[in-house]
Amino acid sequence: MTLGIAFAAIILFVGTAGVVLPNLLLAWNGDAPSLDVALTNALLLNIALILLGWHRYKALSEELKSRRESEEEARRLADIDHLTGCHNRRSFTAVLGQLLAELERRENALAAIAIDLDSFKQVNDLHGHQAGDEVLRTTAARIQRLLPDGGALARLGGDEFVCVVPYPPQVPDRVDQLATRMIEQVARPVEYADSAIEVTMSIGIASSTQMDGVRNGTPSAQKLMHKADIAMYHAKKQGKNRFYWFEPSMENELRFRNELEAGIRRGIANGEFRPYYEQQIDIESGELVGFEMLARWESPEMGVVGPDIFIPIAEEIGVIGEMSEALIEQAFEDAKQWDSQLTLSVNISPVQMRDPWFAQKLLKLLVRHNFPPNRLDIEITESCLHDNVGMVRSMISSLRNQGVCVSLDDFGTGYSSLAQLRSLPFDRLKIDRAFIAELKEDEHGAKLVDAILAMSDGLKLPVTAEGIENEFVLEALKRMGTMKGQGYHYGRPEPAAQVLERLNQKGLLSKDKLDNVTEVDFTAQETKRGEGKRAG
Ligand code: C2E
Ligand code: CA
Ligand code: CA
Repeated sequence: MTLGIAFAAIILFVGTAGVVLPNLLLAWNGDAPSLDVALTNALLLNIALILLGWHRYKALSEELKSRRESEEEARRLADIDHLTGCHNRRSFTAVLGQLLAELERRENALAAIAIDLDSFKQVNDLHGHQAGDEVLRTTAARIQRLLPDGGALARLGGDEFVCVVPYPPQVPDRVDQLATRMIEQVARPVEYADSAIEVTMSIGIASSTQMDGVRNGTPSAQKLMHKADIAMYHAKKQGKNRFYWFEPSMENELRFRNELEAGIRRGIANGEFRPYYEQQIDIESGELVGFEMLARWESPEMGVVGPDIFIPIAEEIGVIGEMSEALIEQAFEDAKQWDSQLTLSVNISPVQMRDPWFAQKLLKLLVRHNFPPNRLDIEITESCLHDNVGMVRSMISSLRNQGVCVSLDDFGTGYSSLAQLRSLPFDRLKIDRAFIAELKEDEHGAKLVDAILAMSDGLKLPVTAEGIENEFVLEALKRMGTMKGQGYHYGRPEPAAQVLERLNQKGLLSKDKLDNVTEVDFTAQETKRGEGKRAG
């Protein structure tokens, strides 16, 4: 509009100037009779209008330019990940989509590489979030440096990255080499403050040659990234710190895994996780001294599922605490019906040991169920000790201050040093069943167990032998010293109702229980309790 006004002013100027200017010049020379004042004023006004219009126009176009620039900047910022400066999910998907669409015309293939740092949460927990950010920045820079021409890197959020690289389809080895170097480079320690932080990563790779149908921009990009993600997930499952190419069978694996996860969440809500109990015996006298609670999933679809399947998943999806507490509560109620001399052992996951409130939570449960702490034994595995010994030590101390016993489970499998073990206030060691199994083999097995017993002697800790499967092993152990024992020789883990029957036969029910229930009642009671939990 400003431009329009200036333009109109120029036309008017041409019109008026044609008449006024010659007159003006004549008047200047004294030849003209008189000047038309109105026209002259119109001319001056015209000039003023042109100048004003021009000025406005310039100011406006400058403003427009700077607005366009800041819009572009905003768009650019929306396209990058602020922490690392590489692409974000949105812009990467667009870039990959574009590359895929152009691919038809070239002789190249594209590999999408999904990258996820292993146990990154621990870096944040142990060193703080700023250290975590530094690790992410360094990781991005190291990967970026390795990318070939035409490659692009994005951080999708958290510790998840993805990159795309072109490669000749006949030589997928190039991508293998790249992935190997990425793993090597990222594994180099990251210096932060006074510590050198080490992380590894898992990688999944999917190739554009593995895509069927037409390649059309964003949807194809998402599909390819999803395939790379599935392969990355597989790499995690296979033990992390490695890479895998996508294979169609991995898709089924993932579907099954997703169903398991959903089933576990549902199972917790429906009370499908139930405590089973394995007897613990004083091997010398053969007397029953307590039970170890072992979790079972009574799944309506799959039947009874063992903890080796669901505990690792529950840990990974962050529901282990909730699941374990529900099981412990059921176990307290069960164990209150047993003779008060009988102990209850429960297994605690390393994930729970990282929760600074764990001891508090346990105390709350003990109080709520009015369960005597000295009947409770917490079993933690050696793998806990690698996480953060300081924290584990103070956790063990606060549990013991509450009167709870703490045992080291699977002893011998976790490479803890003797010095480390001595600094931790355990009450008991449980010799892993792998060593006990050796006893039925040969003399060598006996020597190993002897050595472990000598160690426990040195640490002045009593022991429990796990996995006693037959009389032969039991007799061998009896010759070696006094200890508690458990294993299939004494019986398989069994549900609460069967424990009550067993205790009833042995006259080992709690006084209350003994006073008012008969044998027939046990099963009935158990069913009722089970239904109650399910309904809740
Ligand atoms: P664990 O603590 O070492 O438990 C002993 C395992 O050995 C149990 O397997 C038990 O059934 C099995 N077992 C007992 N006697 C014998 C034997 O004579 N021979 C053989 N071959 N095996 C025997 P299960 O119940 O499958 O438990 C596996 C692991 O799952 C347990 O190992 C424990 O680490 C973990 N777990 C069980 N319940 C829980 C839980 O509530 N929370 C956590 N965090 N972990 C649990
Ligand atoms: Ca155990
Ligand atoms: Ca064990």
